[in-house]
Amino acid sequence: MQIITSKIDLEFDQQHVWHPYTSTINPLPCYPVESANGVYLTLEDGRKLIDGMSSWWSTIHGYNHPALNQAAKNQIDKMSHVMFGGITHEPAVELCRKLIAITPEPLQHVFLADSGSVAVEVSLKMALQYWHAKGQRRPKFLTVRHGYHGDTFAAMSVTDPDNSMHSLYKGFLPEHIFAESSERGFYEEWCESDISDFKEKLNNNKEQLAAVIIEPIVQGAGGMRIYHPMYLKRIRELCDEHDVLLIADEIATGFGRTGKMFACEHAGISPDIMCVGKALTGGYMTLSATLATKHVADTVCSGEAACFMHGPTFMGNPLACAVGNASLEILMQGNWQQQVLSIEQQLSELLPEIGQLDCVKAVRWLGAIGVVELYEPVNMAEIQKSFVDAGVWIRPFGKLIYIMPPFIITPQELSCLTVAIMRSLKPQ
Ligand SMILES: *Cc1c(COP(=O)(O)O)cnc(C)c1O
Repeated sequence: MQIITSKIDLEFDQQHVWHPYTSTINPLPCYPVESANGVYLTLEDGRKLIDGMSSWWSTIHGYNHPALNQAAKNQIDKMSHVMFGGITHEPAVELCRKLIAITPEPLQHVFLADSGSVAVEVSLKMALQYWHAKGQRRPKFLTVRHGYHGDTFAAMSVTDPDNSMHSLYKGFLPEHIFAESSERGFYEEWCESDISDFKEKLNNNKEQLAAVIIEPIVQGAGGMRIYHPMYLKRIRELCDEHDVLLIADEIATGFGRTGKMFACEHAGISPDIMCVGKALTGGYMTLSATLATKHVADTVCSGEAACFMHGPTFMGNPLACAVGNASLEILMQGNWQQQVLSIEQQLSELLPEIGQLDCVKAVRWLGAIGVVELYEPVNMAEIQKSFVDAGVWIRPFGKLIYIMPPFIITPQELSCLTVAIMRSLKPQ
């Protein structure tokens, strides 16, 4: 058992504070972080860790960023929040203008919400209202295995049934349709048979399908899989052919992470509805958006309700929008492209060496994402400590050790991450 000393009452934390996917009976220790700057997290005891996680895909420009700090400070002196019903404000209008400018052309209407899961709920509700307005009953969604779309109920219902333990909620969770996910990696040769199960499921269920929902190119929390762009291209074609809407969940992949501004661009497709979140505010606070084409938005609003039936209390929060604007401005200057490309090149050089280890099943990379898949699940307590001792912050899950560092990471810092992974896996 490791002892961590802290000013924070860590015993209270262990006994009363619930951390994500953590037992209350037997919780592993949590590391107290005091501050963060650039790519570094500073622990309370003064140790500095290179952050390999971007706080779950979000902190793309690094922590404590002067421009993002300034945007928050400027906005907080004007107003932190104001309701969005019947009221509008510059930060929200500007953010929506930028989102429309950088996402695929057909997406023209933006619905702001408070987290990724809610953006997914919103996208599913839009699809249901769309068909209701057209006088059709279409209560089902089609998705693929190994996906992750969030932890709220509708989002969970389209998340991989085994990973999200659908069995726990049987009778309450709506049952949707799952096709086999693509077996073909991003850099492998495309094989048409990869899409056959999806094609069959779409064909057999098309009359009752409201939409297909999928994470473009990279399946994140459901297995860190990086698949062939043709798979996504075929899905778009099949949705068009059978008149089913396509929802792209870009919450993890959006804003440059995969080497394109949005992962859909790898396949040259445009969805009918797109969800973004995570990096939207550069990791400062929670905000998400669901974008729809004019056709989808207008159809939704031509129905019985004459509007879209959703309105979170903190919709369009000015503080979050102001920081989002500052983050998008940095992205729109374009340096991220070179940053992400260099990360990708370096990962392509460093990861294959890790792939040689006996305990490693596969390594994969794309953009600023690197994945090491093992044969056996990691020992979380041990490996977490070994990473912290090595001066890095990497949080594996199950058989997966993965990194998605802030775009500003230097080559030296990035190799510290891969060296730490290598050392944690090498037999002593
Ligand atoms: C994280 C994630 C979500 C959920 O976002 P939250 O902000 O955690 O609710 C949904 N979809 C994908 C692809 C994600 O990676």
